[in-house]
Amino acid sequence: MPDPLRLLAVLAHPDDESLGLGGTLARYADEGVDTFLITATRGERGRYFHNRDRPSDDEVGRVREEELRAAARELGILNVTVLGYADGELDAAPTEQVVGRVVTLLRELRPHVVVSFGFDGAYGHPDHIAVSQLTTSAIVASADPTYRPAEQAHRVAKLYHLGWPRRIWDLYQHVFKRMVSVVDGEERAVNPWPEWTLTTRIDARRHWRTAWAAIQRHETQLAMYQGLDQLTEQQHAILWGDQHFCRVFSTVNSGRSRETDLFEGLR
Ligand SMILES: [Zn+2]
Repeated sequence: MPDPLRLLAVLAHPDDESLGLGGTLARYADEGVDTFLITATRGERGRYFHNRDRPSDDEVGRVREEELRAAARELGILNVTVLGYADGELDAAPTEQVVGRVVTLLRELRPHVVVSFGFDGAYGHPDHIAVSQLTTSAIVASADPTYRPAEQAHRVAKLYHLGWPRRIWDLYQHVFKRMVSVVDGEERAVNPWPEWTLTTRIDARRHWRTAWAAIQRHETQLAMYQGLDQLTEQQHAILWGDQHFCRVFSTVNSGRSRETDLFEGLR
């Protein structure tokens, strides 16, 4: 039996996996790819239902980690690691320590393909930007046999960033709300990527129901998303099943034709 293909997502918060690439994760797990997830924080400073009677941050983190693990089971993810860094402060976490921990996981899980946020953090969220940079650093260090030489080096074949074309962002913000983060007094809104920057389109529309089931496990987060009730099946299928990525690097393929598979060049 050939070695299965392996896909690892490295993200910042519980729910990033389901909202960001739930359909893609569900589809690959269904096709026999081994899928893994690293989540950097427990999301303990995120919302908690309507934020009335909000328990301690520690309790919010505990509940959200449980939701994350339930969502991961829906998606067929084999292994979830929560690093447990402070929510909202990932860019202040000790870089060498975070990178070292991700390297160790890369060397254990040995993914062919890694997915993370892009440089823009989707809507400028500092944790998303931080996890993107830390992931890239860990991939570089993991391939270097002189970095922690007692471990076996692992070279990731392809790295992707999550990307959203304007039509998907428009629908997303219609349903949820205007996505914006305020950082150091400055507002950061979403900045849709031109279609031509999105190298890879994954059709996971057949798996939208699985992604939707995973999203619904994040109960603490759903209370504010009123618009979800009014979504048509077709809108669900697009939101959770028409997924876009930017190929950041690949050691196995190149060229400008649009990929339809994250493992192109590896099969
Ligand atoms: Zn997030």
